[in-house]
Formats: sequence, C-alpha cells, structure tokens
Amino acid sequence: MSGAEQESGHRDNSTEGSRQQSTSQVAIKPPRGTYDILPGETDAWQRLESLAREVFLAAGYREIRNPIFEHTELFKRAVGETTDIVNKEMYTFTDKSDRSLTLRPEGTAGVVRAYLNGGMHRWSAPVKLWYAGPMFRYESLKAGRQRQFNQIGLEAFGSASALMDAEVIMVAHALLSKAGVNNFRVEINSIGCSACRPAFREALKAHLAPCLGELCTDCQDRYERNPLRMLDCKVKADQSHYQDVPVSVDFLCNDCSEHWHELTSLLNAQQIKTVYNKRLVRGLDYYTKTVFELVCDDPRLGVSSTLCGGGRYDNLVEVFGGPPTPAAGWAAGVERLLILLGGQPAYRPDVFIVSANQAEALKLACELRAENIICELDYPTRTAMRSFSKQLQQANKSSAPWTVIAGEEELASGAVALKDMSAGSQQRVARSELGRLLHDLINTQKAGQTPASP
Ligand code: ATP
Ligand code: MG
Repeated sequence: MSGAEQESGHRDNSTEGSRQQSTSQVAIKPPRGTYDILPGETDAWQRLESLAREVFLAAGYREIRNPIFEHTELFKRAVGETTDIVNKEMYTFTDKSDRSLTLRPEGTAGVVRAYLNGGMHRWSAPVKLWYAGPMFRYESLKAGRQRQFNQIGLEAFGSASALMDAEVIMVAHALLSKAGVNNFRVEINSIGCSACRPAFREALKAHLAPCLGELCTDCQDRYERNPLRMLDCKVKADQSHYQDVPVSVDFLCNDCSEHWHELTSLLNAQQIKTVYNKRLVRGLDYYTKTVFELVCDDPRLGVSSTLCGGGRYDNLVEVFGGPPTPAAGWAAGVERLLILLGGQPAYRPDVFIVSANQAEALKLACELRAENIICELDYPTRTAMRSFSKQLQQANKSSAPWTVIAGEEELASGAVALKDMSAGSQQRVARSELGRLLHDLINTQKAGQTPASP
C-alpha cells in the first residue's frame, strides 16, 4: 500500500465543518479507514488475486461470493459475543424494515450460512471453497489497519482429519511463497474442544486470579465471560501477566491430542518454518483444536505482523442448525500482503496508433484490441486529427514500445508502417499480418524481461 493510501486511512476526514460551505467548495473525503485503490495500484491487486485463484484451483477450492451484509445475529452467534469484533468493531445498522444488519467483519460466518442455505452439506465431502472481498471493522487506525479492508480466504468442510488442517495451512503457505513474501513463519497451537477446554479455562482462571486487579477492564470482563480471550489482549501492560500461563496443549483430551500430534508431524515433514505458539488463541470464538497464523516480522508491517489467520471450527455448522460437520479455514489480509509486495511495473500500452483518418484509426484499434493487444490512439480536442508530429509526441509520452502509422497512402494499399520506438526503425507491414507480428514482438520482449525458468 502506498504512503498516500495509508495517509488517507489516518486523516481526519470529518465533513462536519464543511457543511457550512457552499456545495461547490465542499471536498468530500472518503470515510476514515477507507481509501481508493487507484489505477497503478490496482495492477498489483489483480496480480495477487489471479495468483490466489491459481493456487486455490490447483488445490481443488472453488469460489463462493457472499453478500456484504448479513443479519447481525449471524456474526453474534458465529464470531462470539465476547470478541472485540462483535463487542466493539461491527458496522451495525437498522434497515427501513427495522431489521438489524451488519456489514460483514469476516468471511467464515457468511460462508457457513451459505453452505447450509445452498445445500452444500448434502454434496460429497469435502466441500472446499474460497472467497475474496471487503470486510468492515470499526478499528483504531494504525499502520496495516483499515476499517474497510480486503481478505482472501478459504474454508474446507467435511473432514476431521489433521491432513485437512495441514493442507489448509500449506495452501496459505503456497500463496504467500508464490506471491514473493519472504521470511514468514507458521505459528500453530491447539485450543482443544468442548470436552477438554473447560479444564484449561479453569486452570487459566486460577493462575490469573491473583493479578486480576492489575489487568485492563476488558480483560477483567473476559475473565468471567471468556478467559481464553485474555490471551488475545492487545494491551501492552497486560502482557507480562500472560507470559507463564498454563498452556492449552497440556489439557488436550485424547482425540485432540492425537489430532495435534498428527498435525505437527505432517507439518514437520513439509520443510516449512513452523513454530509452536502456546498463547495463540485467535480473535474469534468459533475455533476448536487447531489455530494458526502466518506471521512476518517485516518492519513495514509495524505491529500488524499477522498476514493470515485461521484454524479448525468443528462446531460452527451445527451452531447454525446443520449436521455435525468438521471444518477448517483461514483468511489473509490483502492490504498487508501488498505492503510487502510493492514495486510493480507501471501500465503502458503495447502500441499507439497514429493516423490522419479517425474512422480508420478506431477500426485498427478495435481490430488489435480484439486480439488482446493493448492499444491507444490520440484523442483530439476538435473533430480533425492532430498533425502526425503532434500524434507522435503523444505516442512517445505513452511509452508504448511500438507505433503503428496509418497514412492514407499506406491504408489505400492495405498496409501500415510499424515503428520500433526505442530503435527508431520503421517497417512496412501488411495490415492482415499486423496482429500476428505484434504478438510475436510482444512475446519476444516479455521473454527478454523474464529470466528463463531453470
Ligand atoms: P489482529 O489480531 O491483527 O486484529 P484478527 O485476529 O482480528 O487480527 P482476522 O480476523 O483473523 O484478524 O483476520 C485475518 C487477517 O485479516 C489478519 O491477519 C490481517 O492480515 C487482516 N486484517 C484483519 N483486520 C484488519 C484490518 N482492520 N485492516 C487490515 N487488515 C486486517
Ligand atoms: Mg482484529
């Protein structure tokens, strides 16, 4: 993300003061925590999205597109009433029919709802889905945090096997590696299930009881309502109290313990950097057994070093009235990934058309565009085309490596002149051959730019 975008995320965009001014003076700014993704920046977005599509398809995941708003109840039940997301961060509003709706703060709840509403629980298992799109959270704005941000994520339904947890993690690993993110690690933990977690919760409470008065008010509240949430606290002063807490893996039941050992041995065999993080609980309540994060300590991310987070959620489908269905998934923050990926090449057309004849110039442009050749032409401010030399100046400005010069004389004989802008050389080409020749030239140039694969 560029500095300009970050700035727009942090600016005080208050429009209150400007209400007094006349309409022509009011500069309407984007709401705080939102920003425009401008041409030039969208190139990097598209590249990451198409890379994600390739990685998902190779692993058998298919796309799902959900509504951006859902009934508020969906997130309360799925994400959990004691989480920061539900407690403090949701964009909730009442519509004209008095329904409470919420802009989605995360993707899993909507996908689980659609899994049931779309009858996917009757499909043969596993059902593997991916999604991409904007999420909304009313958060305090720091580097790497917006109020409208984008996630790419996946969900796999119908397998209780640790192999599925491992696959889900490996797909996230493949995406980050292929995108060119360096120096990241996979942090994992197991937080058990409804059979073994109560014992862990009680041990945690017993350990923290003596220092309760020194903790932040949120954690004092979490202590009674959901003590595991305390380990996800972002308040610095509380952290010292959470260093030597009891660890969840010591309390796992046989089933969870077996699952944990299978997962760690599967991941150890993959030659990826996996780190056991005993305090990892994640910010959402629906997880069971495995939780994980892909973390990168690059200074450009500031404190927001988690690129991707996920885990297993074996009870969520049942919470929404479905059959018992084990599941696992993750979501990655697109903006955070793009902070690390910067430095993308700028847009430029392949070819610029110079002609005295508007109709022919447009026709030629449409023919080349139909062959997926990126093509620009000069747009005069009056009806007549500008002089050839003015048009050639535009061609130069556009940085197109080739210019097609379609003079009346050449057009009459079914030909054009093709100019190589860096060499300055020019050749006559039959119009019927132009598309094929340009494709050859473009491919040769691309091959020269990209190092050959080993
Ligand atoms: P954090 O602990 O950083 O608040 P989280 O547990 O709330 O993270 P998730 O809900 O798991 O995050 O979201 C998955 C990913 O989405 C995060 O790892 C991050 O990359 C991205 N993300 C979450 N919230 C934001 C935000 N407000 N702005 C930008 N990206 C975000
Ligand atoms: Mg958060």
